[in-house]
Amino acid sequence: MSPVSRSTILLALDSVGIDPLGHDRPESVYAESRFLFPRGKQGDVVPINDAPIPGALVATDVIGNDPRGAIECALTYTSIFSGQSAVDRHGLMRGLGLKEGLFKQLIADANLFRQFDHPCLLNAIFPAHLSFFGSSHVEDLLPRVDRQAVETGLRYRGRAVQFKGTDKNGFAELFTLAEINQNIFVHAAREAGVRLNTWQDVRDGRALTSTMTHELEAEFHVEFFDEEPLPVHTPGAAARILTAQAQRHDFTFYKYQIPDLVSHTGNLELARRVFSIIEDFVEAVLQGTDPDTIVIVTSDHGHLEQLATSHAHPKTRVPTWCFGPDAAHNAARLRRPEDLFHVLVEFAPRLSVA
Ligand SMILES: [Zn+2]
Repeated sequence: MSPVSRSTILLALDSVGIDPLGHDRPESVYAESRFLFPRGKQGDVVPINDAPIPGALVATDVIGNDPRGAIECALTYTSIFSGQSAVDRHGLMRGLGLKEGLFKQLIADANLFRQFDHPCLLNAIFPAHLSFFGSSHVEDLLPRVDRQAVETGLRYRGRAVQFKGTDKNGFAELFTLAEINQNIFVHAAREAGVRLNTWQDVRDGRALTSTMTHELEAEFHVEFFDEEPLPVHTPGAAARILTAQAQRHDFTFYKYQIPDLVSHTGNLELARRVFSIIEDFVEAVLQGTDPDTIVIVTSDHGHLEQLATSHAHPKTRVPTWCFGPDAAHNAARLRRPEDLFHVLVEFAPRLSVA
């Protein structure tokens, strides 16, 4: 095998599950899908023929053998970035929070970012830290901002922001704005020495916030944080930023957070709009990448597909799409989130030399 340096891209969509009632019915959030959920196609591994690069879709099980408790983001991201099942080791969340020490141990044992010579975390970190993000993985990097000062100083659509609780769900908007979302991949990136992007990198066209198009940030009065507003841009423009970075790195990871926030609104039309943004973004990414590039799109748990009926993360399987060489073969191997680690490392340049 020749030691060709190949670009791999992993996109994570927060809270996008497979529709358990079928994406073909008109009521489905995915009814208008142009290529990600092809109509009339069932089966284990579904070919995606209408994408700019041929691909395949598989249902990935993020719950495993643990039917009790709640599926939370950090469980799936720990599995993806460590190659071990965090659900098998930890169990689902049962009301007492998550044992973060175990997640960190799994990441210390194996870290996806460390498997590559030039990894990139595309998500930018907002340069302020709220002290009530107790277990943020980046808290020591960022200046602390008093909660009360934020509540009196920050404006959203002209109104003061009121936080409902101390957990991330109590202030979903700021959760995204702040970008310090307690996700294990930020910890993994830091442990691997991956540079953490800031909003200045976003302004310079080198990184994305987790809202991708910045429409949400545009609604905030961010001058409170001594920050200039971010330019609103299209999914296509965001995709160009991603593909440019993917050309300079052998592994590029980006997480899109908006489906999670939209899922908590219960607004079907909004959910459909967000899904069309996802599809436009993935299409533009595929149009902008070499057909030799491995592009994988996955999710950490469901919700968008059942936002009208579920107030918590439903225990549905999540879609994982593979594009590029051997797409169907790769997709068939992605039954669990930890499988992503093992498939992706096969494309790491140092391993292809061996
Ligand atoms: Zn999530």
